[in-house]
Amino acid sequence: MKGVVPPRPPRSGYAPRRPPATGAALWTNLRPTVRHGRVKQPARILVVGGGYVGMNAALRLRRALGDDARVTVVSCDPYMTYQPFLAETAAGSIAPAHVVVPLRRVLAGCTVIVGDVLRIEHARRTAIAATPASRQEGGTGEIELPYDEVVVACGSVSRTLPVPGLAETGIGFKTVEEAIGLRNHVLTQLDIASSTRDVEIRDAALTFVVVGGGFAGVGALGELEDMSRYATRHFHNVTAGDLRWVLVEAADRILPEVGAEVADRTLRELRRRNIDVRLSTRLESCEHSVARLSDGSRLPTRTVVWTAGVKPHPLVAACDLPRTGDGALRCDATLRLEGTAHAWAAGDAAAVPDLTAAEPGTLCAPSAQHAVRQARVLADNVVATLRGEPLTDYRHAHVGSVAPLGLHKGVASLYGRRLTGYPAWLMHRAFHLSQVPTLNRKSRVVADWLLAALVKREIVALGSLETPRAEFELAAGSDRRPDA
Ligand SMILES: Cc1cc2nc3c(=O)[nH]c(=O)nc-3n(C[C@H](O)[C@H](O)[C@H](O)COP(=O)(O)OP(=O)(O)OC[C@H]3O[C@@H](n4cnc5c(N)ncnc54)[C@H](O)[C@@H]3O)c2cc1C
Repeated sequence: MKGVVPPRPPRSGYAPRRPPATGAALWTNLRPTVRHGRVKQPARILVVGGGYVGMNAALRLRRALGDDARVTVVSCDPYMTYQPFLAETAAGSIAPAHVVVPLRRVLAGCTVIVGDVLRIEHARRTAIAATPASRQEGGTGEIELPYDEVVVACGSVSRTLPVPGLAETGIGFKTVEEAIGLRNHVLTQLDIASSTRDVEIRDAALTFVVVGGGFAGVGALGELEDMSRYATRHFHNVTAGDLRWVLVEAADRILPEVGAEVADRTLRELRRRNIDVRLSTRLESCEHSVARLSDGSRLPTRTVVWTAGVKPHPLVAACDLPRTGDGALRCDATLRLEGTAHAWAAGDAAAVPDLTAAEPGTLCAPSAQHAVRQARVLADNVVATLRGEPLTDYRHAHVGSVAPLGLHKGVASLYGRRLTGYPAWLMHRAFHLSQVPTLNRKSRVVADWLLAALVKREIVALGSLETPRAEFELAAGSDRRPDA
């Protein structure tokens, strides 16, 4: 390939890069390429994060640059999670392993390192990371990853508030582990309610509070309420009427992502299903199995699901890179960090100008839709930079959103079409099936749906998944007992 300009100071002749003091094995595949008698060092591109942006950008960079670059992806998990399917995973319609995409299989030709980037020292073009192995190797437990170009794609974390009891008892809904944990937790509450004579314990077990009425919260609530109602068919002493699902939303409406008309229809549908939706209401505390709300009510509950928005990942604050007051990486429209060479960002961790918005200064909302498209433009611009070509601005008008509300129920506002109920549910499935990466995952998801349509839903609680050694410890005579 012509014109690849490694941005570091030029080296003469064959000069293999010195591996870092630790984690050297991670870099052993770095070799210069020889083209037309000239030696070129492959550009070292470090991608931090293996989510929507990280996986898609790395794939595109690898395809475009081939052996002219060494693309390394560092991610906390060895997989990318397709988050729009988490609600269906929690409800048991899709197997957990089928909503994640294995990075090593998809990113052939890239180096995938499972670990946490702890900070980025861009002034010396080095990221500092910790891997499960480096933590056991003694010393600082850290490895250094030098780079020529860095792509920061570490996404977001739940935006929490200082609500007493929330950090100790709240359940997030961003990861596949949380989705499985929540499913098991909800089903375990039905088991608890079924086996107690204590009215207070029973009430708390059968009351489920979800905080946050955006797409993630409404989708999780809709699917889990539907699943729990179905599960009560198999209990002799718990009925669907005993369940109490409460949605708490601080704003005066739900689903800010869609128009008022669709939001109103969804609200009516939720209330028709006896879901208690409290608008203009805040969670004030959730201690001692009681949720106190700003409207003065006091709900005994063992379940508080927190889906009240996201904020940029805390890693951003540990980087010497420009950021906004909200803690996001400040990008220009080419997805380069503002005024900073060789550093790029996109997705939930980045503040990217929305060039399609009527109002100047508007930023792209955190969504998969933007993340995937930004990843493509970002990768193309990294390639263009290495080749000395002009960069492209990111420009995409949001096409809308779709979310499931249980089996055969949904809400959609997509490409100008506003739907609720069965057509919206079909649209949700068709749209996300088209978006979920790889034919392999698409086939597995379709197989799950077909199976669920042919045989009854799976409603068993596997609560002991979280303490897999408890049984063996008990057998081995250890003092530890499985948690109640
Ligand atoms: C339940 C739910 C439903 C959603 N539904 C929709 C929807 O229907 N439509 C839509 O458009 N959007 C939806 N979204 C939003 C969408 O999923 C996000 O906007 C998108 O995932 C952002 O992509 P990202 O690459 O920035 O972050 P992510 O996909 O979250 O990826 C971040 C990656 O960074 C890694 N990482 C984090 N910190 C570090 C570190 N220190 N070191 C190394 N790696 C790190 C993580 O392991 C992860 O791999 C939904 C989100 C949720 C939670």
